[in-house]
Amino acid sequence: MSDPVSSTPAQRLVGGLWCGDVLAGLPDYLEGRLEAPTLAAVEAHIAGCDWCARFGGAYASVVGALTEQLAEPEPVGREVADRLDAALDAGLDAGPGGGLDGAG
Ligand SMILES: [Zn+2]
Repeated sequence: MSDPVSSTPAQRLVGGLWCGDVLAGLPDYLEGRLEAPTLAAVEAHIAGCDWCARFGGAYASVVGALTEQLAEPEPVGREVADRLDAALDAGLDAGPGGGLDGAG
């Protein structure tokens, strides 16, 4: 079993938080969901811990890139477009009958 936190080069206690605490709170920190006291402690830690500052910056850029990527609509492939076209044509052909001259 490998614990991701144990792979950090050094566990430091800065601003009342350990590096592990900061890493665990990174997602909430980036989404602005941390309570004010916790937020202040995390920022104090990052200000005094170059490793967390670098890791946090890299993490934020990766999450930002992923979020942008996922927000973009997936381009529809040509094959899908062709099949959609065919399905629409078939639907029109097989549509409910009934001519305009039915009445009378
Ligand atoms: Zn740290």
